[in-house]
Amino acid sequence: MAKHTITLIPGDGIGPEVCDSARAVLAAAGVDIAWEVVEAGADVAEKHGGNPLPASVLDSVRRNKVALKGPIGTPIGKGFKSANVQLRQALQMFANLRPVKSLPGVSTPFTAAPVGKGGAPGGGAVDLVIVRENTEGMYTGIEHTIIPGVTQAIKVVTAEASTRICEFAFEYAEKMGYPRVTVVHKANIMKITDGLFLECGRAAARRHPRLEMVEMIVDACAMNMVRNPNRLGVIVTLNLYGDILSDLAAGLVGGLGIVPGANIGKDAAVFEAVHGSAPDIAGRGVANPTALIQSAVMMLDHLEEHEAARRIERALRDVYEKGTARTGDLGGKSTNKEFTDAIVAALA
Ligand code: ATP
Repeated sequence: MAKHTITLIPGDGIGPEVCDSARAVLAAAGVDIAWEVVEAGADVAEKHGGNPLPASVLDSVRRNKVALKGPIGTPIGKGFKSANVQLRQALQMFANLRPVKSLPGVSTPFTAAPVGKGGAPGGGAVDLVIVRENTEGMYTGIEHTIIPGVTQAIKVVTAEASTRICEFAFEYAEKMGYPRVTVVHKANIMKITDGLFLECGRAAARRHPRLEMVEMIVDACAMNMVRNPNRLGVIVTLNLYGDILSDLAAGLVGGLGIVPGANIGKDAAVFEAVHGSAPDIAGRGVANPTALIQSAVMMLDHLEEHEAARRIERALRDVYEKGTARTGDLGGKSTNKEFTDAIVAALA
C-alpha cells in the first residue's frame, strides 16, 4: 500500500497540465503516493446543476486530509459561490499561507533588503510570507440588490476567526525564524470590522513578546511591499487584502507562475498555487508549473517528507540557477513538459 493517499483536484484551464507536472516531479523524487483524482470546476458544474464543487470532492479531501489542487475558475457576476471559497469554508481551512521568495536568476523590479535587517536597500532576495484569513471578511458571498441600482455586500469579521489566524501567523513567524509580524488592516475606515481584527492581532502580539509587531494600513502595505518587502516579515491580514497583496507580491518575484500556497485547517490541508486557471494560455502546454511544484513541496513538509521536499527544492533552484529550462512567462522558450523534464533530470 502507498504510504500516502492524497486527493488530486486537477481543476480548470492550466490546472491539469501543472498537476501532471507536479505529479511527475513527486514521482521522480520517489515519494510513495496513491492519488485519488476527483473532478471539480467548470466542466463538472454542468453535470451537477451548476455546482462546480460536487460533494464527492469534499468527501475525498475529508477522508484523505490532504489534497493537491489545480486552479478552479470562478465566473464573474453569476452562478454558484466560488468552488475555491466553498472548499475553504466547508473544510474550515482558515489559513491561507503564501510564502513569497525569489528564485535564483529570476529578476525582480528592484533590489530587496536582507530579511529583518531594518530596511536599507541593497543585496538579498525577496522573502516574505502572506497569511490570509480564509473563511470570512468580504468573502461571505452575502450580497443583495436592495432596490434596482442600490446594492450591498456584507463583510463579516469575528473575534474567533481573527484570533485563530493571527495566532497562526505569530506561531508561523516564530517557527520559521521571521523577526516580525505585520498586521495589515483598514481600521481607519472600517472601524468596527477591521478594528476587531486589529485588536485580535494586538492580543496575539502580547502572547508572543519575542516578535516585533507592526500595524500597517493596507494601502501603505502595498507601497512598502514594492519599496522594501523584506521589512514586512510575516503579513497577517483579512481575506480580500490578502488576495490582492498576494498578486502584488507575486509580481515582485517574477509573477504568478512562481508563488505557491497552502490552505490549512484543523482537519484538512489543500495545497494550491496562487494563480488562477489562466484561460489565455490553457491547453497550449506552456504554463509554468513552478507554483504548483512549490505547493507540492509545502505539502511534503506537511506530510513530514522533509528530505524529498529539500531535494525537489534544490532541483528547482538548480534549473533556475543554470537556466537549463525556463517557461515563457519568465522570458524563456521551454514548454511545460521540457521544464518538468529538466527538474526530473536535476533530481536524478
Ligand atoms: P482567477 O480569477 O482564477 O484568480 P486571474 O484572473 O487572477 O484568475 P490568472 O488565471 O491567475 O488570472 O492569470 C493571470 C495572468 O497570469 C494570465 O495572463 C496568465 O496567463 C498568467 N499566468 C497565471 N498563471 C500562470 C502560469 N502558471 N504560467 C504562466 N502564466 C501564468
